[in-house]
Amino acid sequence: MSKHFLIIGGGIVGASLAYHLAQAKQRVTVLEQHAVASGASSKSFAWLNANYPDTPEYFALRLAALAHYRALAASHDLSSLLRFGGSLWWEDEGEAFDAHAALLARHNYRSEVIDARRFAQLAPAVKNPPERSLHAPEEAGVYLAGMTHWLLAAASAQGAVVQTGAAVEALEMRGRGAVGARTALEVIAADHIIVAAGVLTADLLAPLGFDLPMNNNAGLVLRSAPQDPLLDHVIMTPDVHFRQDPDGSLLMGEIFSGAFEPGRDIDALRAKVVDRVTRRLATPKPISIAQTMLGTRPMPADGIPAVGSVPGVEGLSVAVMHSAATLGPMIGRLLGEELISGEPAPLLATFRPNRFLPQQ
Ligand SMILES: Cc1cc2nc3c(=O)[nH]c(=O)nc-3n(C[C@H](O)[C@H](O)[C@H](O)COP(=O)(O)OP(=O)(O)OC[C@H]3O[C@@H](n4cnc5c(N)ncnc54)[C@H](O)[C@@H]3O)c2cc1C
Repeated sequence: MSKHFLIIGGGIVGASLAYHLAQAKQRVTVLEQHAVASGASSKSFAWLNANYPDTPEYFALRLAALAHYRALAASHDLSSLLRFGGSLWWEDEGEAFDAHAALLARHNYRSEVIDARRFAQLAPAVKNPPERSLHAPEEAGVYLAGMTHWLLAAASAQGAVVQTGAAVEALEMRGRGAVGARTALEVIAADHIIVAAGVLTADLLAPLGFDLPMNNNAGLVLRSAPQDPLLDHVIMTPDVHFRQDPDGSLLMGEIFSGAFEPGRDIDALRAKVVDRVTRRLATPKPISIAQTMLGTRPMPADGIPAVGSVPGVEGLSVAVMHSAATLGPMIGRLLGEELISGEPAPLLATFRPNRFLPQQ
């Protein structure tokens, strides 16, 4: 008989896990405190890439994640959510550009240095093409909130229960085992609980004695009113990045990480981003902003995902990471398979939360 899996968090990570568990005919409940995709998954630039190979294991995970998106897109119509147009990158210039190109080449990543002429052929709407950029043809952009809804709708169709407006106040414990989750209305019992609560993940684990160090950081993304089709690629320039979703809206992000300290002038920041995009992209009609998204990236302190058993607590797992626009669907699959089979996934071996336990 299937176990009952309880997932806390209705962002891309929780949604993907629910999807894979429900496809495997497991009993699944998702508790989301606000609405589906109301956290980072609705405020993401959502560039799908393996462009930053920090460690060989992280690179392998990101490559697998891109392949997983392709497999999903091959078996389902995701054309309203996903655009596999590749990317054009020149965030760094000069020696830093050379170093990045060499790093990707060492990893045999599918990317090539192209000149301004080739750039203009690939992305004619971009003004003043750079003399050199890196073209990574297998990268993509995703409408991440839509992808999250799609995964949860498919999970629900397989019997998963998705409760919104259901904030988990605490986990219910029996001895050292997690046995349920308490909301304002009820205690929901489960055989296994997975915390996929994004930036709030550590808050749910701390009362159990596990300190998950996080270094969450903020970012601004703007969404425009739809434009005619202009861009296939994700464009990463030294001072702004932008891409187009399948509905025609432009996603625009600034190169800024940190806290939104009180007094920061968001209107001025928004105007700066629009100005930078306008200087770089020829649009038939002026860019008008439909949505200003201030998001916080869930980021384990060492920058890489934390996925798997919570040390010292039975029946409890966690899945939290930055870059989950890229990684989330694959992580849901790997963790789901592990939870069902009990066999650890080799691709997840270096991402276990127990790396944060104090050294003896
Ligand atoms: C500005 C910005 C730009 C980004 N750009 C990229 C990019 O280009 N490429 C990329 O791959 N990634 C990018 N990311 C990262 C990516 O968007 C995130 O890693 C991903 O959205 C995290 O998904 P999640 O499901 O873990 O968290 P979330 O989407 O935050 O979901 C967690 C959910 O848990 C719920 N929750 C929290 N506590 C509780 C509770 N107690 N009870 C019930 N529910 C709870 C929240 O309401 C939330 O909906 C970006 C993020 C930001 C903010």
